Amino acid sequence: MFAYGRSNFTWNGTLRELQGSWTERRGPAMTASASSSSGLEVLLSALQNGGDVESTLNILNVLDELLSAGTDRRIHYMISKGGSEALLVALVNAGRSFSPNYTILLPLLHLLAKVGHRDRRIGVKAEEAGAVLLTLNLLRHNAQHGSRAAACLWAIQVFCSSVSTANLIGANHGLDVIYGLIPQYSTKHLHTIKAAIDAFAALLCTKANVSSVVSKGYVSGLLRLYEDWYSKGSEHVAICHALLRCLHKVTHITAGRQAVLSQGGIRLLYETTQTCLLSKGLEPLVELSVQLMRKCLPKTPLPLTSDQSAYTFPLPGGPHAVPETDAEPDESSDESDDDDAEDKPEADYDDDLETDLNKLRLRPDPDRPKELLPQYSHLCPELSHDFQELDLSSEPDESSTASSSSSSDEEAVRLNSFPFRCSRWDRRRSTVHSDSETEAKGHTAAVGQLEARDFHSHSSLLSTSPRFRTMVREARGKALPGQRGDEQDDEEVDAEESHHRTMIDKLLERHGACIPHHDPRLYRAAAAKTTSIPGFSILAFPDFWGHLPPPGHEPMAPRKPNVQRQKVFEDVRRFLNADDIIDQVVFDLEDSSLQCPSDALRFFSKFECGNLRKAVQVRRYEYDLILNADANSNQHTQWFYFEVSNMVADVPYRFNVINCEKSNSQFNYGMQPVLYSVREALEGRPHWLRTGTEICYFRNHFCPARGRKRTTFYTLTFTITFKHNEDVCYVAYHYPHTYSALKAHLKVLQKSVDPAKVFFQQQTLCGTLAGNWCPVVTITACPASRGWRDMHQLRNRPCIVLTGRVHPGESNASWMMKGTLEFLCSSDPVAQSLREAFVFKLIPMLNPDGVINGTNRCDLNSEDLNRQWSKPDPVLSPTIYHAKGFLYYLNSIGRTPLVFCDYHGHSRKKNVFLYGCSVKETLWQSGSVVNTAGLKEDPGYRTIPKTLDRLAPAFSFNSCNYLVEKSRSATARVVVWREMGVLRSYTMESTHNGCDQGIYKGLQTGTRELQEMGVKFCHSLLSLTKDMKALYSRRINHIDVDHNVLDHKSHNCFEDDEPPCVEEIEYSTDCPALKGTDLDSDVNSNMASSDEEDEGNEGHRRARHGRGSVGQLQHLSMKSRLFPHPMRQASSEALGEKRNGVGMNGQIIS
Ligand SMILES: [Zn+2]
Repeated sequence: MFAYGRSNFTWNGTLRELQGSWTERRGPAMTASASSSSGLEVLLSALQNGGDVESTLNILNVLDELLSAGTDRRIHYMISKGGSEALLVALVNAGRSFSPNYTILLPLLHLLAKVGHRDRRIGVKAEEAGAVLLTLNLLRHNAQHGSRAAACLWAIQVFCSSVSTANLIGANHGLDVIYGLIPQYSTKHLHTIKAAIDAFAALLCTKANVSSVVSKGYVSGLLRLYEDWYSKGSEHVAICHALLRCLHKVTHITAGRQAVLSQGGIRLLYETTQTCLLSKGLEPLVELSVQLMRKCLPKTPLPLTSDQSAYTFPLPGGPHAVPETDAEPDESSDESDDDDAEDKPEADYDDDLETDLNKLRLRPDPDRPKELLPQYSHLCPELSHDFQELDLSSEPDESSTASSSSSSDEEAVRLNSFPFRCSRWDRRRSTVHSDSETEAKGHTAAVGQLEARDFHSHSSLLSTSPRFRTMVREARGKALPGQRGDEQDDEEVDAEESHHRTMIDKLLERHGACIPHHDPRLYRAAAAKTTSIPGFSILAFPDFWGHLPPPGHEPMAPRKPNVQRQKVFEDVRRFLNADDIIDQVVFDLEDSSLQCPSDALRFFSKFECGNLRKAVQVRRYEYDLILNADANSNQHTQWFYFEVSNMVADVPYRFNVINCEKSNSQFNYGMQPVLYSVREALEGRPHWLRTGTEICYFRNHFCPARGRKRTTFYTLTFTITFKHNEDVCYVAYHYPHTYSALKAHLKVLQKSVDPAKVFFQQQTLCGTLAGNWCPVVTITACPASRGWRDMHQLRNRPCIVLTGRVHPGESNASWMMKGTLEFLCSSDPVAQSLREAFVFKLIPMLNPDGVINGTNRCDLNSEDLNRQWSKPDPVLSPTIYHAKGFLYYLNSIGRTPLVFCDYHGHSRKKNVFLYGCSVKETLWQSGSVVNTAGLKEDPGYRTIPKTLDRLAPAFSFNSCNYLVEKSRSATARVVVWREMGVLRSYTMESTHNGCDQGIYKGLQTGTRELQEMGVKFCHSLLSLTKDMKALYSRRINHIDVDHNVLDHKSHNCFEDDEPPCVEEIEYSTDCPALKGTDLDSDVNSNMASSDEEDEGNEGHRRARHGRGSVGQLQHLSMKSRLFPHPMRQASSEALGEKRNGVGMNGQIIS
C-alpha cells in the first residue's frame, strides 16, 4: 500500500494485484470483492475525480501500460468496468477549461481512441458525457496543430460507431471542418491528414452525412484528392486507400454513384489501377478501385423487350393459371432446393429444421381418396404377368411381344388406364389442346420432312464452307474432290432434302460411331414424336450422333490469378471506350429473319434442350449471351445449350452469359462448360469435352429489361479457342441429355435384354402438359419357372423406386440414371442378383416438358415440381401427381418401397452425396429440447450412404446429411419418407463440377463417372439383401475385388467446405472494414514523434521511422508508447521509488 504524491489517490494494492484482477475476467473473486473494489476501479474513479496533472498522467500511464501489454481482453475488461465513461468524464473535465492542458488531453484522447475502438457503445457514451461536440470544438481550435488535431480526429472516428453521433457531428458542420483538413499533396502532418480522412470516412456511415457530402460537391474533391495523392507514388498508399474508402461510403447511395460517374470517377479509377498493376506497392489500391468501379457502373437493362420467356404455353384452366409474372421475386428464396442449402447462413439453416415432433413422425392424411389408387395397378405388370413365354422356352418373338406390348401402344395405355382423367384431362385436351393436336398431326406428317431437315442448321455450313464440304464428301466416300463439280451442278434445290437425307444416312453408315446403347435412327424417330412449345424441327447434332466419353480424365481448370479482375477491366473498358464496341445482335430466338454479318459467329438454339435467347457481338471476338427464362416465367436462367458456327480456328473468343441468377457457381472453382465439335465427331471423336479458359463467375451491372426489381445478374465468362475453321460446335452448361434420348435409350435397352431372363417393361405414367409421355420402367428378373414357389418369390420382391430429372438443368441426373438403367439390364452377376432380389420401378424423367424446352428449373407452369409433392395438382403437375399416386398404390397393396431415390444435380458443391431423412438427427441438429432418448429410429437409412462411400469413388459420405427442413417439406425425399413411410428415402446430388476427395480428386466428372455412379448406387443396394445372405456373400466378393483399387479415399471432412475463391473479396462490392490494429498503430505513431512541439519537424520524424509514410507506420507494433520517453521514464521511476525500489517492468508487463 502506498500513497502517491499529494493527490488524493491512494493505491491500496500492488500493481501485480491490479494486473491479476485484470486477467481474472469472470473469476468469482471479481464479483465477490464487492467490499473492496478492484485496483482498476480505484484507478478509474481517481481518473474521473480529477487530481493534479502529475497524478492524472500517472494513472493514464499505468492504464496505457496495462492495456498495451496484453490482448484486447484487457481492454474489454476495462470497458466492462466503466473505463470508457471514466475516460470521457476525464476528457470533458480537462477539455472544458478555458485553456485546456494538452499534456493531459493528448494522452487522454489517444487512450480514448484505443479503448473506444473496441467499445461498441462508445458513440452513445460520448454523447451522454457531452464529449462529442467538445472534441469537435477542440479540433476546430487545433486545426493548425497537427498532433492535437490528429488526436481529436481519432476520437471522432471512434465516436462515429454510433449513427446518431455521426449525425450529430455532421449537423454541427463536422464534415466541413474535417474535409478542410484534407489538403492536396503535402509532406507535412501526414498523420493528421490520414486521421482526417479516416474520420471523414467514419462520418459517412449515415445516409444524412453521405447525402450532405454529395450535395456539397465533395465527391469531385475527393476524386481530385485521390488523383493528386496517387500521382505521388506508392509512399502514400495508405492515404490513397483511405480516400478510396471515403468514396466507397459515398457510393452507398445512388446520388453518390452518379456523382462518381459524372465526375469521371470511373475513368480515373480505371487509369490509376492500370498503373497500380505495374507497381507492387500500389497493389492494395487495385481491389478497392475495382469494387468501386463495379459499384458505379450504371445499371444496364438486358437488351430484351420483355423479361418473360420467349416460350409461353397456354395452361389448362384459363389465363389466370399463367403465373403473376411481374411479381417481385422473393429475395430470400433464391430458388433454394436440396442443392442450395449451403447458400443460407448456418443460423438460418438451423431455423429451417423441422422441430415439430408430430410433423416429423405422424403421417398426414392421404391427399386423395383410396378409390383413385387402383388405376395404378397396371404399373405393376410383373404381378399380373403369366410368364407363359417361360414354358415356350426360347421363342424370342413371343416374349418380346409380351414385354413390349404397352410401350408400342402408349396411346392405348393412356386412354384405357386413366379413366378418371377422362373428365379433366380429356376436357383439357379437347379445349386447350385442340390446337396442338392439329399441330401434332402436322408434326407427325412432317416427320419425313423433319428427317430431311435434320441438319438444316449446319447444312448451310456445308454449303458455305469449302473445307467442311470437302471433309463431308470424303466422309461419304462417294466422290473425290476432283469430281465435285458434276455433282454440285446436278443438284436441284428441290432435291436438297433427299440429298441431305442420303447424306446423313451415308455418313451414319461410314462414320456413325459405335456408341453403346445409342442408335441415331432410333433417336430421330423418337424426336419426331416429341412435342415442344416452339415445334422443334431440327436436331442438335450431338444428341443425334451420340457421345462417347473421351479417353482419360479431365482435370479441373486452373484459375489464373486475377482473371476476374482482368475481365472486369475489359467490361469497364466497354463503358469507357466505345470505339471498338460493335454491339450488334447476331442471334435472336424470336427473330429468325435476323441477318448477321458474315464474319460474326452464328448461333442457334431452337432444338430440344436448347437455351439461348439472344447473342450480341460486343467486340470482334467477344459475345454477350442472354439465356431464355423458364417457359411461362421470367426467371431461373442458368442452363444453356446452343450451337455456334462460322468460327475462325485458333482465335480466342470470349463468351459472357450475362443473365445467370445463382449467386455463386462451381465455375469459380475449376468447372468448365462442355463443347462438342461436329467435325471432330465426323473424324471419329464424338465427345463432349470440358472446354474453356479464363472462366469466372461474378456479379455484373445488368438488370432486368423491365418489371422485375431487386434482381441481380451474374456473368459467367469463358474463352474458347476453336480447333477448326468453320466447324459447327455445341456448347452447354453440362452434358446434355434430351427427352428423345431417354426414349430412344429405353427402346435400345428393351431390345438388348434377354426376355427369358429380364423382365423389362416400359409404360406410361401419364401425359405431360404439352402432351408428351412420362415413361415408367419396370425391371426385375423373370422367375426361374412358373411354379408356385418362383412366382411367389417374384411377387414378394421388395420394390426400389428411382426417379430423376425433375430439374431440367440437372442433366447429370439423367446420366446417372442412364448408368443405373444399363446396369440393371446388363448380364453382370450383381445386376442379376439385384433383379432376383428386387423389383425396380424407374421414372427416369419427372419433367419431360421442362427438359424438352430447355428450362433450368421448372415445368411449363413455371413451378418447381420438386416443391409440389405435398399436394400435387393433377392437371398442372401431372407427373408428380401420378408418381405420388403410384407410390400410394404400392403402399396400399403392402409393397411400400424399400428404397426411394430421386436423382439430382448440384451446381455449387463437389462430389456425389445423399440427403436422407432422420427424426433424431434433425432434432439434435436443431438443438431441440425434445428428449430423443426414448425415440426409436431404425439407423438403416445410413446403410446405403456408408456402402456408397466405400464403393463409389465420386461419393462423399461427409457431404451427406439426414435433416428434415421445413422449406423442403414438399420435396420428393421428405414426402415419400413422411407420407409413405419409406425409411430409405433420398435425394442423390451429383456435382456439375468434380470431386475434391478420393481417386477423382481434382478431376471434373464426365459422363463415364456419372454413369458409374448410377451403377454404384445399384451395387450399394446389395447391402440390403439380408434375407439373401448366401447370395449376398457371393456377390459382395465380386464387389470387393472390383473396388480394392478404389480404397484410398480421403476422409477429410474439412474438404466439404468450398475453399474461398482466390478473388472472393472482389466478388462482393463491399468495402473491407478498417482493422482495430490499424488505428492503434496510427495512434501510437503520433506519440512516437517525441511531442507536439515537433510539429514542423517532419524530417526528424521521417528519419526516425524510415521514410515516414503512414503506410509504413501502420505496421508498427501495437504496443503503445502514449507518452514521450523522458516522461514515461520519469513517471515509472517515481512509481518504482514509491514502491521501494521494486522494478516495474517485470511486474507490469508480462
Ligand atoms: Zn435438383
